[in-house]
Amino acid sequence: MTVTIVYPPRERLANLPTPLQPLDRITERFSKPYGGPRIWVKRDDLTESAMSGNKLRKLEFIVAEARRSGADTLITCGGEQSNHCRATALAAAKCGLRAHVLLRQSRPKSKVSDPPDGNLLVDYLAGAKVSLYPLQEYLSRLPELFQEWEQHYLQQGSKALSIPTGGSDGLGVWGYIAGVEELIEDCRREGFSPEHLVCASGSGGTQAGMTLGCQLLGEDAQVTGYAVCDDEGYFVNKVCEDVSDWYRRYPELVPKGFVFNKDPVKVVDEYIGPGYAIATDEIYRAIAMLAQQEGLLLDPVYTGKAFYGMLQDIEKGRYADSDNLVFVHTGGQFGVFPQRDGFKNSWGD
Ligand SMILES: *Cc1c(COP(=O)(O)O)cnc(C)c1O
Repeated sequence: MTVTIVYPPRERLANLPTPLQPLDRITERFSKPYGGPRIWVKRDDLTESAMSGNKLRKLEFIVAEARRSGADTLITCGGEQSNHCRATALAAAKCGLRAHVLLRQSRPKSKVSDPPDGNLLVDYLAGAKVSLYPLQEYLSRLPELFQEWEQHYLQQGSKALSIPTGGSDGLGVWGYIAGVEELIEDCRREGFSPEHLVCASGSGGTQAGMTLGCQLLGEDAQVTGYAVCDDEGYFVNKVCEDVSDWYRRYPELVPKGFVFNKDPVKVVDEYIGPGYAIATDEIYRAIAMLAQQEGLLLDPVYTGKAFYGMLQDIEKGRYADSDNLVFVHTGGQFGVFPQRDGFKNSWGD
């Protein structure tokens, strides 16, 4: 049975479909010995070169909503090295919109006057307005900060659309409903149905979109999110909230009688390490290993942690029941460079 998903307006920004590639050397070495599946990678790091990664899929729907509602400014938030803010800054520039990013300052005082690096550098290059807030103020006042800036733009005769962390809500979730529809189609072309889909979870929208998309399509691929912050309970709840928000916003697009099942929302929270955006030697080494074995570059904040965790779980037999697993490479490579010091022990002579 083919199901037709009806989508809201969408601004085409990403180069789609992104490639689906087998990782045969990794499969031979890290999966076959444990009776694990063939590992594939969905190259969503290639959605665009500088706007790269998973956030661009969400932004296709977010930008379209900005246009529909007459907004000329996108306000969003995240860490100083936020991939989402960088992608928003560039997407706004491409679409002739203004971007304003509210960032949680993370550099120590001694480094705040250093030239910006990684994603932060790109935010400035893209002409985004950058407001940096100390951790405490960011955590305690974020909703007010959004309100104050929205008010500011209204007074200037502009209109801003506020986008939550990671673009994850009932609007952004469309990105990975469409993303997983594309992925299932890629797999079909390669002659298989994936039993497992794996991604990194940071704000939950990618996992929410993929899980919801599979259910809308009647596919029973199991989506597993590897948390890079917060715990399992948080993400299960966050995924369900994004789906509820989707129901609320799009009553006319939800298929009649469709009921989201929360049981398949699976989150692994054992590989976060010391905290968000803080990696360990194992993660840095896993990134170097994958670059050496497959020419594939992961990042230390999201994909490196998720991929490392997935390999550990394959070894423990978590995926032993299956033939094909797809790891969704959500991007983030600009995050490698600001963490250059961490890679000191990651390769030999
Ligand atoms: C934001 C991000 C994620 C997490 O996606 P969410 O939808 O926020 O859970 C994963 N990988 C990269 C590289 C990201 O930038």
